Amino acid sequence: MNLNGILWLSHLFFPRECVHCGVLLDYRNRDYLCDGCRDLLETVAEPLCKRCGEPLEITAPGPVICPDCRKHPPAFRRARSALYFSGPGESLVRTYKYSAHPYLSGPCLRLLLAGGENWYGWKGYDRVVPVPLHPRKARERGFDQSAILAAGLSRKTRIPLEKRALVRVRYTATQTRLKRTERRENIRGAFSAPAPARVRGATLLLVDDVYTTGATVNECAATLMKAGAKDVDVLTLARAVNR
Ligand SMILES: [Zn+2]
Ligand SMILES: [Zn+2]
Repeated sequence: MNLNGILWLSHLFFPRECVHCGVLLDYRNRDYLCDGCRDLLETVAEPLCKRCGEPLEITAPGPVICPDCRKHPPAFRRARSALYFSGPGESLVRTYKYSAHPYLSGPCLRLLLAGGENWYGWKGYDRVVPVPLHPRKARERGFDQSAILAAGLSRKTRIPLEKRALVRVRYTATQTRLKRTERRENIRGAFSAPAPARVRGATLLLVDDVYTTGATVNECAATLMKAGAKDVDVLTLARAVNR
């Protein structure tokens, strides 16, 4: 049986649905979104804070830094995301993250690559580093989406993957209900860089699934910078709106 036949058969037993509206999809659909929902995906665009990537209302001439970054300069150089965590984008990322559907790795990686290509163009990076899950959380979930995305990105861009640059040394309660300052406190000291030689002098691309307040990636970047990294840029698949 050829690949199409296998796809058709698997579709018979596991009908493919749009992750947002639930409409039944053609078995060749690789995005898990119907055409209508795919058109509604909100990709991140300028104008943005040149540091944290926060969308800005005004289009002032020249690069602008948001009030937050002026008050608390982040440890990373820049943070950018592929799409907003809203509408079909939220459904896609949420289903990927919480239902551990490995088949969504493909569409999520394609969106992440498009975002990274647009914002960074992949030049000047020495290593790709995923934001690590605590081993206990990885076990509970059976799935580490940031590690999968970082590995896929490394394969496609040929920037070497460095999985052991960061480890999570403290188990943190879920941050979903915490405010920005509480998140910063909650995450402080949660990571360590056990092998500084792996990051010393290197420009790193830190990969995570969702940027909410930036507390997690900021703590990771601070840890990597303390270990001697030259610069850390952050790339996430999605970015929360109205935080
Ligand atoms: Zn749909
Ligand atoms: Zn900012």
